[in-house]
Amino acid sequence: MSELTISTQNYLKSIFLLEELGEKVSTTSLAGMLKVAPASVTGMLKKLNRDDLIEYQPYQLIHLSESGRVAALQVIRRHRLLELFLTETVGMSWHEVHEEAERLEHVISASFLDHIDRLLNFPRADPHGSPIPDRTLILPERHCQPLSKHQPGEVLQLTEVMDEDAGFLVYLAQLGLRPGQKFNLVEIEPYEGSFILQTDTGQIRLSQKAASLIFVERIQEN
Ligand SMILES: [Zn+2]
Repeated sequence: MSELTISTQNYLKSIFLLEELGEKVSTTSLAGMLKVAPASVTGMLKKLNRDDLIEYQPYQLIHLSESGRVAALQVIRRHRLLELFLTETVGMSWHEVHEEAERLEHVISASFLDHIDRLLNFPRADPHGSPIPDRTLILPERHCQPLSKHQPGEVLQLTEVMDEDAGFLVYLAQLGLRPGQKFNLVEIEPYEGSFILQTDTGQIRLSQKAASLIFVERIQEN
């Protein structure tokens, strides 16, 4: 892993994350996620293909090879464990840790990571609810979908939120929405499509955009 450049690690991670979101991985979607020009992505994809980290033909969808998937999972494990360490142990807020983890994920040693893992008692999710691959790189299973795909009347639990936009995380915290929060999806308003949620403590009105960036699981009504 250490011989892969930071840029290579970021490409593999981004391909994995797009696949995890159920999106088709193309030059365009990857360029959007990495915030670089599609032309520079094409050059890098050819290199990753030569190094057997991805399977790639021009104009076709991109897939990770087995070794590319292992490398991506290692970066994701470091990223998510670091985020939890930074919130739980260092005391940072959940909107501050993504940027730090983006840098640190490329430099910390395997030994430091193992210490964090043990210190935090082998956690299965980061502060944003994203699953942490274990030491053998097995990801905890999930069955969640964006809130925007659900219907009024459903009882739901928030499992995960997209963590890249600090402003979005501040917005969710102000609304009192965190992973683990249970609520009833009461209504989707016509026209603007705001989502009205009923929690134990009150009603929350969430924009349609926000509803597409948080992931929920259906739970049994009781
Ligand atoms: Zn993050």
